[in-house]
Amino acid sequence: MKELVVISGKGGTGKTSLTASFAALATGAVLADCDVDAADLHLILAPEHRHREEFRSGHAATIRAADCVGCGRCAELCRYDSIFPAIRTDDGAPVFEVDASACEGCGVCVWNCPANAIDFPEQVCGEWFISTTRHGSMVHARLTPGAENSGLLVALVREKSRQVAKQEKRDLVLVDGPPGTGCPVIAAVTGASSLLVVTEPTVSGEHDLERVLALAQHFRIPAAVCINKWDLHPELTERIETKARAAGAIPVGRVRYDKAATAAQRQGLAVVEADPGPMADDIRAVWTTWLDALDTSALPTST
Ligand code: SF4
Ligand code: SF4
Repeated sequence: MKELVVISGKGGTGKTSLTASFAALATGAVLADCDVDAADLHLILAPEHRHREEFRSGHAATIRAADCVGCGRCAELCRYDSIFPAIRTDDGAPVFEVDASACEGCGVCVWNCPANAIDFPEQVCGEWFISTTRHGSMVHARLTPGAENSGLLVALVREKSRQVAKQEKRDLVLVDGPPGTGCPVIAAVTGASSLLVVTEPTVSGEHDLERVLALAQHFRIPAAVCINKWDLHPELTERIETKARAAGAIPVGRVRYDKAATAAQRQGLAVVEADPGPMADDIRAVWTTWLDALDTSALPTST
């Protein structure tokens, strides 16, 4: 089974728009939306949920006011200043409370409370889904706003998408990865068959590409590069592709700037579904060139 991951050094490069078109072109892949902090592949693929589950990760302390003797030991020990004095409503006794938004879930207060008055439940940090789309099954998730552990949720989405692929006897998982180079990206790319890095011909795009290729090199994952909106700055496009080659990545094509992308989004369609024009041709060419490049064993090298 191959796992192809589309990533970008930052948001707004057109990564998800291209992934939606690849989903349409792949015919029979299982799709995984690993951009769990700002998932939007569903806006184009309109998934119908057939399985939904809570994502639980980490713990948070809560003090039972009825059992608290107000000794303040928990507040003394909390290194995150998450515990503050309060008044028990029943009898006006001094007790303590936890600021849930500041609790880091370390558990120190729980273990040291002499009255055993602190609960430590697992936190629901979001939910994940297995859905049906017009281009195959899709595993996706939604992280609760402000919740952490997005790397764990990304790892979960990847694991479930592999399971679905096995069950459905699919040999390809196509992943829409998170932007950046942080923990969620590492969770999205580790062990992938190939990365496609989508970037733009801007100075920040060039810089971000270098960081992403360094990540690919570190994890020894073959990488391909696609320049989106390349015609906005042809010279910089040339320079970025040269740098990509020097870093051991394979430039697999350019996609022009075209209002067809926005028009397709408004219709809830991928560009290759909505528009038979030159942008769709560009995207098809990138997809086939990327697939052809899978058989080469090129790995990114240090930039
Ligand atoms: S350590 Fe326990 S009993 Fe003491 S103030 Fe904190 S919650 Fe209350
Ligand atoms: S679990 Fe840790 S961070 Fe949360 S309130 Fe207790 S001591 Fe503070």
